[in-house]
Amino acid sequence: MLAVAPADPFGYHSRREGYVVIWDRGMETMERSRLEDLQRTRLSWTLHWARDRVPFYRDRLSHLKGLDEHPLEALQDLPFTHKSDLRDQYPLGFLAVSRGEVRRFHASSGTRGKPTVVAYTEHDLTMWSEVVARALAAAGMQPGQTLQNAYGYGLFTGGLGLHAGAERLGVAVIPASGGGTERQVQLMLDLAPDGLAATPSYALYIAETMHHLGVSSDQLALKTGIFGAEPWSEGMREHLESGLGIQAVDIYGLSEITGPGVAIECVEAKAGLHVFEDFFYMEVIDPKTGARKAPGEVGELVLTTLSKEAMPMIRYRTGDLVSVNPEPCICGRTSMRMSRIHGRSDDMLIVRGVNVFPSEIERVLLSQPGVSAHYQLCWEGHPSRPDLVVEIEEAQVGALDQGALAIHLRAALGVHLSVRVVAHGHIPRSQGKAIRVINRMQEES
Ligand SMILES: [Zn+2]
Repeated sequence: MLAVAPADPFGYHSRREGYVVIWDRGMETMERSRLEDLQRTRLSWTLHWARDRVPFYRDRLSHLKGLDEHPLEALQDLPFTHKSDLRDQYPLGFLAVSRGEVRRFHASSGTRGKPTVVAYTEHDLTMWSEVVARALAAAGMQPGQTLQNAYGYGLFTGGLGLHAGAERLGVAVIPASGGGTERQVQLMLDLAPDGLAATPSYALYIAETMHHLGVSSDQLALKTGIFGAEPWSEGMREHLESGLGIQAVDIYGLSEITGPGVAIECVEAKAGLHVFEDFFYMEVIDPKTGARKAPGEVGELVLTTLSKEAMPMIRYRTGDLVSVNPEPCICGRTSMRMSRIHGRSDDMLIVRGVNVFPSEIERVLLSQPGVSAHYQLCWEGHPSRPDLVVEIEEAQVGALDQGALAIHLRAALGVHLSVRVVAHGHIPRSQGKAIRVINRMQEES
């Protein structure tokens, strides 16, 4: 039997049975040729806007030809914008509007060096909440539902970004922010949110805390999980879906481009993240040569904003390694999908000369029976010849054979590493972005 929609205040109905909203059907299911026309128009606007208003881009764009006729081709001749450029222009060298036109600032945490600041005009905030509304709808959230937002509120874009998009969709928000995990569980019992937004590692900790408190997922109304801000694997998805009784999807974004909502998996396919290409132009390049990669090939994601006023970004190197899938999706959206993040170029580990990403280790590790989703990667031994040790908690006592798991990981990853099964609770729990790699190497003498 088809589910009957209680109300449809926005007039959007899915082609599919039931009551799945595509928030902006006109844009999200637009024919590719029309979408590409729109991208050209908006890119041309962006190139002019940046050239006329941002000294950094004025120098780069002043001699460029074809901004109006062939903006996509012109773009290919432009150098990339790097994170280090934002740091060099700290705090507001990239600002393209007057201070009076800025409505909000956010900033990166600066864990990898000097922080970067980003700014938004009113129009930028509207665009951002629009893409987050689309993203939440793609995840399965509906107008009239409630979202518990356990992303941190503050300078980090996760909290306020998800918040505004949820309100735009017509969803009530519980602004729980990060931390206070027992209270998070209490709120889920008392206010019955339909969705939870968090980093996947924090969602895992919430699920574990529920278990400790004797709360089962059957007691909750939770149906949807929106998880991002760190790479995660299919194995982690299974742990989160079974632990919380939900459908879990991956959301992607970065503050330099806008924040969360650049791309999201649809709940129908859960196979790659739809990029909102009417606002963000996507390229995948070879990180060494800068050459374009073909669909399906893994490379670094490069993004250009198509409507941002306060801080347009042109060919921004995200550092995230993905591949692109141009195949049509069963959900009806016509945007291209990017794979989940294979890794960040600056997170790569080199184990005795062999490269491996922490996310690849997670993918293989969590596909094994008997493992919990609590793990960390430890560098041990002498710095001249460090060993990588995977510490993992068991799902139940005695569920894991340390030696057999190590043999499997070595074979599947082609990397020399060892495994240590540790007691329950040994791995620190994350209340935000998880720290997966820790250094226990002996000091050099
Ligand atoms: Zn889809």
